[in-house]
Amino acid sequence: MRIIFATANPGKLREASEVLGPDYEVVPPASMGITEDIPETGSSLQENSLQKARYLFERTGLPCFADDTGLEVDALGGAPGIYSARYAGPAHDSQANMTKLLAELENEKSRRARFRTVVTLILSDGEPRFFEGVCEGSIATERHGAGGFGYDPVFLPDAYPGRTLAEVSEEKKNAVSHRGRAIRAMADWLKGR
Ligand code: IMP
Repeated sequence: MRIIFATANPGKLREASEVLGPDYEVVPPASMGITEDIPETGSSLQENSLQKARYLFERTGLPCFADDTGLEVDALGGAPGIYSARYAGPAHDSQANMTKLLAELENEKSRRARFRTVVTLILSDGEPRFFEGVCEGSIATERHGAGGFGYDPVFLPDAYPGRTLAEVSEEKKNAVSHRGRAIRAMADWLKGR
């Protein structure tokens, strides 16, 4: 079955293809001629992922899914949360976002944090279904590692003590990541249908 994933990120597409297996052909919106930025103006991860999945379904009528992720830092009352991409401004600049985060947490002992992803799946019946994945960890005091993307160089997952997500292989990251867990939950649901 062909299924559209609301992303242009090759790493995310690869991860979803691997998790869903050979029965699914995971394609980006551009392959259906949708090249514009898909709006995400909701006030929660669920609203944003639903908005993106609906946008694709309304235009294609094909099975599709979308993800939305936020980094929740306890000492910041759950911020940056849904604003993670534009924490340091509208430019969606990961380096600037990490610089701001490390500055906000300077001298802060409590550094517990988690990534949370909500995936919305819409099949041909048009009904949205939601899947969540969480990756628990803490925020490092400085950047480490060159892999991954986004906040990976400052996120220490509990699953790999002493290493940031930017210091583990893509395979290891996917095994414990918020998005990996949410997409696996979706894949399990699809298989059990
Ligand atoms: P999005 O929902 O995937 O667009 O992500 C929202 C924000 O969280 C962006 O700033 C991303 O860089 C960041 N983010 C999402 N997933 C990850 C991840 O796996 N590692 C690090 N940062 C991430």
